[in-house]
Amino acid sequence: MVTETEKESLLLYTVSPDELPWDVEVDVLVIGGGGCGLIASLAAAQKGAQVFLVEKEKAAGGNTSLSQAMVPAAGTRFQREAGIKDSVDLMTEDILHKNGYGSDPELTRHVAQESAKLVEWLNDSLGIRLDLVTEFIYPGHSQYRIHANRTKKGAHLVNELLQAAARYDNISIAYNAPAKRLIVDRQGGAVLGAEVEIGGIGKNLARAKKVIFALNGFGANREMLAKYIPEMKDAYYFGHEGNTGEGILWGEALGAALECMGAYQAHGSVAHPHGTLLTYVTVSMGGYHVNLDGKRFVNEYHGYSEHALDVLAQKEGVAIAVFDERIYQTILDYEDFQQCIKAGAVKKFGNIRELAVSFRLPPDEMERTHKGFLRAARGEAEDPLGRREFGKPLEPPLYGVKVTGALFHTQGGLKVNKHAQVIRRDGTPIQNLYAGGGTAAGFSGKSGPAGYLSANGLLAALVLGKIAGEKAAKAALVLGKTAGEKAAKAALVEQ
Ligand SMILES: Cc1cc2nc3c(=O)[nH]c(=O)nc-3n(C[C@H](O)[C@H](O)[C@H](O)COP(=O)(O)OP(=O)(O)OC[C@H]3O[C@@H](n4cnc5c(N)ncnc54)[C@H](O)[C@@H]3O)c2cc1C
Repeated sequence: MVTETEKESLLLYTVSPDELPWDVEVDVLVIGGGGCGLIASLAAAQKGAQVFLVEKEKAAGGNTSLSQAMVPAAGTRFQREAGIKDSVDLMTEDILHKNGYGSDPELTRHVAQESAKLVEWLNDSLGIRLDLVTEFIYPGHSQYRIHANRTKKGAHLVNELLQAAARYDNISIAYNAPAKRLIVDRQGGAVLGAEVEIGGIGKNLARAKKVIFALNGFGANREMLAKYIPEMKDAYYFGHEGNTGEGILWGEALGAALECMGAYQAHGSVAHPHGTLLTYVTVSMGGYHVNLDGKRFVNEYHGYSEHALDVLAQKEGVAIAVFDERIYQTILDYEDFQQCIKAGAVKKFGNIRELAVSFRLPPDEMERTHKGFLRAARGEAEDPLGRREFGKPLEPPLYGVKVTGALFHTQGGLKVNKHAQVIRRDGTPIQNLYAGGGTAAGFSGKSGPAGYLSANGLLAALVLGKIAGEKAAKAALVLGKTAGEKAAKAALVEQ
């Protein structure tokens, strides 16, 4: 619970909003310029609202730029064209099954339902091309439903969103502009705007009819990690440094309900010590991981998020990812994989013994492991670790990459409803406040990394961002109209 003193540092109360020296007045103020904030801004601008987006860092993007731009959606026309039979029910069930039925089932279904609209809107209305990915299926998805750009890189998605935003006169973006405090009506608790520090100089008061929190979670806040996710407080953090959790603190100070605060996304395949992301497609297409004893240690197919803890539990907290030429050629276009190659993380070998020698693994043990894995992949024996999905059996030449586990982002946050409005502990919405992405409670269960179904992150960021933008704009414009009508009526009375 936030103390009264803490509240004073998080919130700026006013009893008389009209007497504050506002520097700017807009319909919708969006805090945070990652995927959620950019989508929310575009959706609100398309509805005709005047939008002001403030981004703490000198560039937009946040975790969205670092991501692989993989967006899940069920029932898209791209799936139909590819003959894929998917449905909102199936996607909802996949998410709930993975998170142990630990997210709000109605909201989960709602975002699944809105996911196809989001992907088609990105393609058709904003001209941002996302294609259905059919070369692999990620663990836990029972259908091909990931949509992504060719390079599988979030930075390109962010650039395209920025280009789209530049086409709207009613979107202004300020960089180096962290929101510092939320401005709140002392009587009713309605959100009125935010105090924003632009360019490190002075405080600007931005007044808005509606405010959208799009500032992700608390992956970069060690204190909050120690409180909510102690097992990850000292972990290698692979996400964006701007994500320090203030949106969640402001919400909490306003009485918002917090949910799933122990949940997070981690990843068990970050090239080490290079610090570049080795896509988990290396596993889903048929590769495997061994520890420094040359032994597999878990069914790698259970999911890349929980796999982080498995890898960190091995000697030196590392594993060696093993895959082959077929997989290498499939992922060669992925920008993250190019980074791994450039960094010298990807090594090529004629056979498994050469790989073992290079990574200082016991060659005989490694050969036994490899042969055993191939037997299971060919269906000649049961995998002792219970893996059933193998893709095609690996063939030389083989590739090896040393990997470790890392924290990517947090999944707990403010409870929101179907309109992306932030909800108090008593169940009522906080007036004028919306949230999406990592600031809102996600769809990955109550705690731990295992509830994260691949691409839950962008699902929450982009789908809730679009809903928040549309709903906030609509409500702001109704408010504006009402105020305008009132003023017109008042003028008539005066005449
Ligand atoms: C390496 C990596 C790969 C990933 N790949 C995928 C993937 O392929 N698919 C998927 O679904 N998910 C993926 N994820 C997760 C996904 O990136 C995130 O869930 C998603 O991008 C969150 O979007 P967001 O808009 O909520 O936050 P962000 O994109 O992080 O944006 C938040 C922004 O808010 C800004 N901000 C913070 N505080 C303030 C403040 N006080 N004032 C102003 N601005 C502020 C930050 O600087 C930041 O720019 C990946 C994550 C990582 C780290």
